[in-house]
Amino acid sequence: MLPARERTISTLEAKAIASPRSIVDRNFEHAADRLGLTKEQRLLLTTPFREVRVGVPVRMDDGSLRVFTGYRIQHNGARGPMKGGIRYHPAVDEEEIRALAQAMTWKTALVNIPFGGAKGGVACDPQMMSQGELQRLTRKFVARIHRFLGPHRDIPAPDVNTNAQVMAWILDEYSSRHGYSPACVTGKPLELGGSVGRVQATGRGVALVLESHMENLGRPLKGLKIVLQGFGNVGSNAALVLAERGCEIFAVSDMYGGIVSEDGRGLPIKKLVEHVEKTGSVINFPGSVLIQNQDLLLLECDVLIPAALECVLHEENAPEVKAKIIAEAANLPTTPEADEIFQNKGITVLPDILTNAGGVIVSYFECTQNLQEVSWDESRVNRELTEYLGRAYNEAARLSAREGVSLKQAAYEIAVERVARAEELRGM
Ligand code: NAD
Repeated sequence: MLPARERTISTLEAKAIASPRSIVDRNFEHAADRLGLTKEQRLLLTTPFREVRVGVPVRMDDGSLRVFTGYRIQHNGARGPMKGGIRYHPAVDEEEIRALAQAMTWKTALVNIPFGGAKGGVACDPQMMSQGELQRLTRKFVARIHRFLGPHRDIPAPDVNTNAQVMAWILDEYSSRHGYSPACVTGKPLELGGSVGRVQATGRGVALVLESHMENLGRPLKGLKIVLQGFGNVGSNAALVLAERGCEIFAVSDMYGGIVSEDGRGLPIKKLVEHVEKTGSVINFPGSVLIQNQDLLLLECDVLIPAALECVLHEENAPEVKAKIIAEAANLPTTPEADEIFQNKGITVLPDILTNAGGVIVSYFECTQNLQEVSWDESRVNRELTEYLGRAYNEAARLSAREGVSLKQAAYEIAVERVARAEELRGM
C-alpha cells in the first residue's frame, strides 16, 4: 500500500507562498515593459476572452451525489482556436486555471502554431475516484461546456491526472452532440484519431530543448547529472529520452516521496517506469534510498527538472538550489522572486512556455492530421517537433544574447509581441 502523499510541497502550501497568477502577471509585465505596450494593449492582452464555471453533479459508486466545480477559461484566440489541457486535481481553482490559460496563449505564440490559449480543470481527487466516477464526471463536465468547445473554437488536451482515456470520453460526448469531430480534442487514443508520439511529446520536447541549449553552449547532453521532480506523463517520458541519450537521472520524486540512487549514478529509467506501473509510485525502487521532496530540489546536479506542479521553486528554497540549469517541464514552477535569485546565481532557467511546448506542438499536428484525414508516421512527427522547438529555442536564445535578458524574458517578449500584433491586425 502507498503511504500518505508527501506533505512537504503540496500545491496548496506552495500556492500560499506564491500564486500562478503572480508568475504570469510578472512575466507578462516584463515583456510588455520592454515592448512598450500601451495600457490598453495590456488590458486587452491580459483579459480572458471567456470564463466558464460549472457545477458538475456526479452520482458516486456508493449512491451518494456530489457536485464538483469545473472551469474552462479561454484566454486569447487572436492567433487561432484556443488550446489547453484539462486537469483533475483537488487544488484546481479559478485563479490557477486563469493563469494557466494565459500561459498557454504565450506558449502557442512562442512556438508559432496557429492557436490561442485556454485551460480547464475540475476540482476533484481522481486518486480517490473509480473509473466509472471519472467517466461520469468527464461526460457531465463536457455536457455543460460543449457549446464553447470545438475544432475551430477551443480544443482541450490532457494535463495533470487526465489521459488518453479521458480525452476519448470528451470526444464521444462532444461528437454525440455535434457529429463525429476528432479534431475537437487532442491526446486521444490512436484508435480514435490520436497522433503517434503525442503521449511522449511533452517529455520528448523537454529533452529536445535541453539538447538545443547544450548545443548552444557547445557542451554534450551525454553525462549530465539530472534530478527530476514528478514522474507522470511529462517527467517519465523526459527521463526515458534523456536516459537513452546518456544522461544520468539519479533522483526522482512523485506525490508520495522521492528517491535517490544508492550509488549516485543514473537510475535505470525503463525499470523505474515498470516499477511505477506495478506499484503506483517511485518509492521502494530497488537500489535507491528515500529523500524528502523538498530536499530533492536542493540536490547538487547539472539539471533540475520540475515536472509536477506550479510554484515549487520560490524565494524560500531558491537560494539553496544547487543545479546549474533548471528545465521547467511543469507549467509555472518558478516564481518571479526565484527567477531573480537564479539569475543572480548564474543558474539558467529554460522557460516552461518553451520547454514543455512539445505537447501542444504535437497536439497541433494531431488536429492537422484529423482535419486533413491523414496520419503521419512517428519519424515525421518527431522530425517536425524537433524543427518547431529548435526554431523557437534559437529565436529566444538569439534575443536573450542580443538584449542581455534571460531566456524566459526573451521567450515572453517574442510571444507577447506576436499576440499583440495579431490583435492589432484584427483591428483592436
Ligand atoms: P501527471 O499527472 O501525469 O504527473 C504529475 C506527476 O507529478 C506525478 O508523478 C505526481 O505523482 C507528481 N506530483 C504531484 N504532486 C507532487 C508533489 N507535491 N511533489 C512531487 N511530485 C508530485 O501530469 P503531467 O501531465 O506529467 O503534467 C506535469 C506538469 O507538466 C504539469 O505542470 C502540467 O501542467 C505540465 N504539462 C503537461 C503537459 C502534458 O502534455 N501532459 C503539457 C505541458 C505541460
